[in-house]
Amino acid sequence: MDSDRGGDRGKVAITGFPLDSNSSFMKGAAEAPPLIRSAVFSDASNLWSESGINLGGELALQDAGDLAFASDIDEFAAIESAVEALLGCGLLPIALGGDHSITYPVIRAVSTRHSGLTVLDFDAHPDLYDEFQGSRRSHACPFARIMEEGLVRRLVQAGVRTLNDHQRRQAEKFGVEVIEMRAWNDSLPDLQSPLYISFDLDVLDPAFAPGVALREPGGLSVRQVLHAIQSLRAEVVAADIVEFNPRCDPAQITAWVCAKLVKEMAAKMLEGNRR
Ligand code: MN
Ligand code: MN
Repeated sequence: MDSDRGGDRGKVAITGFPLDSNSSFMKGAAEAPPLIRSAVFSDASNLWSESGINLGGELALQDAGDLAFASDIDEFAAIESAVEALLGCGLLPIALGGDHSITYPVIRAVSTRHSGLTVLDFDAHPDLYDEFQGSRRSHACPFARIMEEGLVRRLVQAGVRTLNDHQRRQAEKFGVEVIEMRAWNDSLPDLQSPLYISFDLDVLDPAFAPGVALREPGGLSVRQVLHAIQSLRAEVVAADIVEFNPRCDPAQITAWVCAKLVKEMAAKMLEGNRR
């Protein structure tokens, strides 16, 4: 087993959580993980990050497969256990959704191992509803659950452009730092370690990532989010990529964006091995 300390950190493991039963508007995000995986490992590109880390080499990117949900199981409990198992093996997880509801159980597991977590959430939506369409498990609610349980020290949301009165009040109540898209200036505040990145594909402008259920124009470019990730100085201990909906993705445009994000996030996580 690899140590998760200092210069001997573990490998990154991608793992799929094919869950879209908490999606409000359209199903389909559960079909994403195998398509992201095949784009990551496709011969159409290589496994080097832009910063020069070979994810196919000694610091390999490991594939932990997709979680299969039994019909009588609590999906959130199953996700939490799966992430705990990866962390217990010294692996640095990148969870592939699925819709954004998976982030709540993933962060429950990560926060148990890493106290004082900061979360950087890229999203067009704040996902802070107390409940949505009668559900507290909705993909519109994960950050309300995370904040009311006190799982993280700090939540910074970038790219938000759909705030309403209720969610503005929720953000104030929980002390969420919301960087609205209209105020984006290509820089983030200083973020402390340990850091968790949650990436909802709809933060991107639909021109770059049409494969999402909730297209919200006026978003970030792929290059802007890559720059933001590459510029992070904190130690990234885990991440997720959620809300890719293959049913809305002409010519696999968004699948390739997901693969690029996996590689650049994994490289950022593995930088600890070279420090
Ligand atoms: Mn979201
Ligand atoms: Mn969203």
